[in-house]
Amino acid sequence: MECNACGAILEGDSLARAWTCSYCKTVNHNKEFLKQHISSIDFAKTHNLLQVGLVAYECGDYVKAKDILEKILIEDSSNIDAWIYTALSTAFLTNISNFEESFNKIKSYIKKAESIDYGAPVLYTAKSVCGNLLGEIAKKNIERQYDFAKKSWFSYESVDINKAKHKTNEELSVAFKYADYGLSMKPDDLKVLGAIIILTLLCDQLYKGNNPHKEIVSKAKDALCVIEQNGLKEKLYSLLDLEYKEQNLIDSKCNKKNDGCFAQVKMICLWALGVVFILFLISILI
Ligand SMILES: [Zn+2]
Repeated sequence: MECNACGAILEGDSLARAWTCSYCKTVNHNKEFLKQHISSIDFAKTHNLLQVGLVAYECGDYVKAKDILEKILIEDSSNIDAWIYTALSTAFLTNISNFEESFNKIKSYIKKAESIDYGAPVLYTAKSVCGNLLGEIAKKNIERQYDFAKKSWFSYESVDINKAKHKTNEELSVAFKYADYGLSMKPDDLKVLGAIIILTLLCDQLYKGNNPHKEIVSKAKDALCVIEQNGLKEKLYSLLDLEYKEQNLIDSKCNKKNDGCFAQVKMICLWALGVVFILFLISILI
């Protein structure tokens, strides 16, 4: 078993729910745990349809699984497994065209499961799987919009500059929306997360005029900082597609934290100076 992020050999029980890499500290979720969990459920104590739904899930029939599990939830909304596997089935059925609807559903299913038992072990695995599945599709959507935006710019730039800007930014705004969705799913697959980050930075570069989506851009930069702090920047670079490598985007130094520290030191110095000045004034007056 190898670490998804750095490729180091993972040690420990092969049936564990997750392994933490001893080199890069990345938590690697064991997708097999979702099957193990199904076999550990005591179906005698649950809704009689649950087993049918989960067998359908195991067989990869996500449409059937989702149908059955949703029926269970209408009657009994306290079944955490039904919420989790409905979220998973929905994630496996997500594509570019139904992304937003699926995203919202999965978020709410996971929230329901969390409200029943936040620490349920299977929930962590499910969140990881959903995050990577949706992250991958968000990435495809961003990629597509970025390509549209580039084409719009090249085809209108010399004809009508205002139209070119308008078209380009319109396409990019959709890309930023998907970047926000993708980042909020917290994919832990370095390739998926890395591509979302780089694409977001590329979209920012292409944006004409003042980009109103700066908040999403800084979310992407923060995620890149975390990757760098975990010592995975080199690995990310090796995973990226050639097109993104040329941009040298991940070479930007991660100094946000230092800036924050520096600003704090500056503030403290200013305060200290102020206090000294006031004391000085008081001493003169006395
Ligand atoms: Zn690792």
